[in-house]
Amino acid sequence: MLTAMGDVMRHCYAKGWITTRDGNISLCKKAGKYLYITPSGFRKTIVHPEQIVKLEIVADPSTSERRPRVLDQQRPSGELWMHWNIQRGTPRTRAVVHIHPTHVVAAIYRGFDLQKICADFPEISRYTKVGPSVPPLPALSREFADATADCLGVHQDGSVDYDIVGQANHGVCSVGPDPWSAYEHIERLDHICEIVLKSGVSPGVGMFDAVLR
Ligand SMILES: [Zn+2]
Repeated sequence: MLTAMGDVMRHCYAKGWITTRDGNISLCKKAGKYLYITPSGFRKTIVHPEQIVKLEIVADPSTSERRPRVLDQQRPSGELWMHWNIQRGTPRTRAVVHIHPTHVVAAIYRGFDLQKICADFPEISRYTKVGPSVPPLPALSREFADATADCLGVHQDGSVDYDIVGQANHGVCSVGPDPWSAYEHIERLDHICEIVLKSGVSPGVGMFDAVLR
């Protein structure tokens, strides 16, 4: 699965969904002691298992809350908190993928509500639960990390309500049992957003509303 983390990044780069150093992926194995995450600022096209940062999950001595421990020489993704918010307490193996898929970002920027447009397309609504979009917030901030977890509907017991959320003026965050499953949610959502954008309908006007006008 560590190999899949790099493979997914290369695939996203080939699709034009990230520039070379963008995007990040994490993985927590079932009952595992480590959080695996892509390195910060590294060219994602050459991420292989040996470049993945392995962070031990330890209890914070002051709060006894579990958190990943970053050693001096380790350079995990700057979005570590976004990943940990979603990974903490996961009852099973979980991959979290954050990238910048062009059509999803464009659709949100144009004013589309992702949940509304996806309701029109069984291709996505059958397999992928899309959550409310995260408002524009600074990348790498705690606010951004917390809002992403809120929109995904992360619960104390580690369960999540949605598979993917859009992040306004930025990207998406997707969750799955492995990196490729999380990738599939992104691919489906980007495909629908591309269709909607190419259809020429405006935000707030459904496809059938446009025909009836
Ligand atoms: Zn990003």
